[in-house]
Amino acid sequence: MPGGELDCVFCRIIQGEVEAALVYEDDTYVAFMDIRPINPGHILVLPKVHRETVFDMAPEETGALFAQAARLAVAVKEALGADGINIGQNNGRAAQQIVPHVHVHVIPRYVDDSPAGRWPSRKAVPLTDLEGLAQEIRASV
Ligand SMILES: [Zn+2]
Repeated sequence: MPGGELDCVFCRIIQGEVEAALVYEDDTYVAFMDIRPINPGHILVLPKVHRETVFDMAPEETGALFAQAARLAVAVKEALGADGINIGQNNGRAAQQIVPHVHVHVIPRYVDDSPAGRWPSRKAVPLTDLEGLAQEIRASV
């Protein structure tokens, strides 16, 4: 495998070497719970093939990835009873991309979850706690 794939934690999740609370998987995409969610039910949607950013992808591939994220956003909204959903994607350190394997954030939001107009703060959540939510979302996909 070329590049940084061997060191990529998301590739290791895809290969089953690192545990994650899986929400969705097909031949091309995988989705799992963010371990430091902005709100409960925050998931990441990514292509199985290692691409660092959208700059390494054809625009059509990026479009297909976002279509997948939009489909899963419906399941997240239903499962969590969210009032709204943020769909976001960061490219490069300057844009606050933490893991260099392209991924789309799908984040449930609630009318009163940001009283100061700021994002709710991220909190680390144990994998076992994420499994229950993952199951609920899987049931809505
Ligand atoms: Zn990767």
